[in-house]
Amino acid sequence: MQQVAAIHENAPRRVTVLGSTGSVGCNTIDLIQRNSRAFEVEALTAFSNVKLLAEQARRLQARCAVVGDAGKYFELKEALSGTGIEAAAGPEAVAEAGDRPAEWVMAAIVGAAGLEATLAAVRRGAVVALANKETLVCAGSLILAEIARNRATLLPVDSEHSAIYQVFDFEHAEAVEKIILTASGGPFRSLDRAAMASMTPAQAVAHPNWDMGAKISVDSATMMNKGLELIEAHHLFGLPESQIDIVVHPQSVVHSLVAYTDGSVLAQLGSPDMRTPIAYALGWPKRMPTPAKRLDLAAIGSLTFENPDPVRFPALRLAREALKAGGTAPAVLNAANEVAVHAFLKGQIGFLDIAETVERTLAALPAEPLTSLDHLRQVDAAARDRAQLNLRRNSLGVAH
Ligand code: NAD
Ligand code: MG
Repeated sequence: MQQVAAIHENAPRRVTVLGSTGSVGCNTIDLIQRNSRAFEVEALTAFSNVKLLAEQARRLQARCAVVGDAGKYFELKEALSGTGIEAAAGPEAVAEAGDRPAEWVMAAIVGAAGLEATLAAVRRGAVVALANKETLVCAGSLILAEIARNRATLLPVDSEHSAIYQVFDFEHAEAVEKIILTASGGPFRSLDRAAMASMTPAQAVAHPNWDMGAKISVDSATMMNKGLELIEAHHLFGLPESQIDIVVHPQSVVHSLVAYTDGSVLAQLGSPDMRTPIAYALGWPKRMPTPAKRLDLAAIGSLTFENPDPVRFPALRLAREALKAGGTAPAVLNAANEVAVHAFLKGQIGFLDIAETVERTLAALPAEPLTSLDHLRQVDAAARDRAQLNLRRNSLGVAH
């Protein structure tokens, strides 16, 4: 345990995990448990999986566990009986979990639903490890203003942004020519549009390299994930759309790169295991050990790269357009995408309808300056309504 003690010599780091039952959440819990002397758990939250939430809370002796589904309060209370762990339920309680006194907060709820809890942590000036890219996509400028105002720290967890963060020279940012996000290309990388049209939810979530939640897996298949990451990178590193490139790299070993004005290109590499970027944020500013598979370049043999195809993957074009349009456009893009992915996962629309729904919703709601959080909530709701309308038209086969 010597290495562990070295992470936080003085006192254990008090942490909260928002979305602890998800893919990123479970990986975070795994690392906390492996280094249990270095951490104390303040709060854990989940949407509905009470069994796993209660089990995690008991195992890590959390102070509080929160379930988003208000109807599950008594089930959670029962599951925690005799432990002294506080139980709470409902969306407000999830948001309040971000407000509890943890020094470090993992934001790993999926979608714009994670915004309030993440903001609560930011407003306390916490160290926020951000996996929940949708919050930055829809509210980037507002979140960054809150971070500056409250002297909070934002650490990227997305593997690409963690990679860039690790090799970005923040002291001499003017020497950065561009950043290059790598993309696996997802499970449909080499399919034509006709073949994509008949792909099922099960095929879309079967990612070749990463084991992730359903929503991000579908986003990887449409490549909207890379579009969202483009917008995320713009906010995290302060670069315009024109200085952010995307390259397809099917092996997912080079996690992203930074190109400098002198011609140097710095990259971060590793096995595709989310525990590495999570550990970077969890141990920050120190490094902590993980059991991630060690990289054996000779065994891998070759790493390949190719340009993305914005014709087969229109989501990439839509995200670039939304970022260039600015203001409310990224929030509309995100909300429409969340609605469309949800409908695809429920078997209500086809795979190609996802990007089409996003495109129609963006066309119907032109970009305007984003003025406040209330404005964002209105735009998000309007975009969801509009996307639903587009979906219904799709399923009825109505001509547009
Ligand atoms: P997931 O679906 O596996 O888990 C989502 C978590 O959020 C669960 O704990 C769930 O209970 C909770 N949740 C969902 N809806 C909620 C709601 N309305 N209110 C409260 N809690 C809710 O998702 P994931 O794959 O872990 O991804 C989480 C976030 O991290 C996403 O924004 C995703 O884009 C990002 N991310 C994930 C990965 C990955 O490897 N999985 C990698 C990079 C970034
Ligand atoms: Mg990523």
